Amino acid sequence: MLNRKYLLKLGVRTSLFNHSCCPSATISKISGTTKQKVETVRDVTEGDEICISYLSDGYLPRDERQRILSARGFTCRCERCSPESTFDRDVPLTADISLLPLSNEKIAPLRRRYDQLVADLQSMLGFSTPQSCSLWIMRAERWLVDASKPPYQLHQFHWLSVHLYKMLRDRYKTMYVSNAGNRKDMRKKTLYYGKLIIRAEFAVLQPLDPHKQAVDAFLDDWNDMGMPKNGAWKLLKELEPSAEIIIKSLNE
Ligand SMILES: [Zn+2]
Repeated sequence: MLNRKYLLKLGVRTSLFNHSCCPSATISKISGTTKQKVETVRDVTEGDEICISYLSDGYLPRDERQRILSARGFTCRCERCSPESTFDRDVPLTADISLLPLSNEKIAPLRRRYDQLVADLQSMLGFSTPQSCSLWIMRAERWLVDASKPPYQLHQFHWLSVHLYKMLRDRYKTMYVSNAGNRKDMRKKTLYYGKLIIRAEFAVLQPLDPHKQAVDAFLDDWNDMGMPKNGAWKLLKELEPSAEIIIKSLNE
């Protein structure tokens, strides 16, 4: 058994690793060098293939992952994608509040509005004003309200909702940083969506993504907004007891 933090100091050929949607390693740049490091993110046994994820976002349901990966020329058959998969943590990604599956057809109207929100946000980036930003936020929050009601009643960890939480968190933070609107409200909303994202990622990705991008982003927001230093750890512990373990292992 190799340790979780076992580090392979490789400078080249990291692109030769195969993909898995539940990767056993991550690749990152070693700062100040042209080298990359491969770090295992869970325990691996000798003889196991070490895989990385080619997806920039692990918080996607199977169909969406396959769509992106098939554009790269393959069908993923990892333990999360295979038809025999028992990876039930993915269930909320495409389910309603009672964890019953929601078909693409059923949520098609919501999906169209979501796609429009994403397109509008992309065309705004770099050109947004506080007014256009607030307007977009209003539409996105209305989407979340509609999504939570019949006939959809999306699970709060449904991938579309969680993606909107991320976009809303970024918009509120942009408003906060640019001194637009009531800063106290902007801060509250930024941290509120940050908390929802942490809950979702812990619920769905926890065994897959111990680096906890959501936790890192939350801590960044917390610091950028001048919140009291120790408060973040206390809050994270309340939010998600296993966050503490993750943080400890990151600080080792
Ligand atoms: Zn897969």
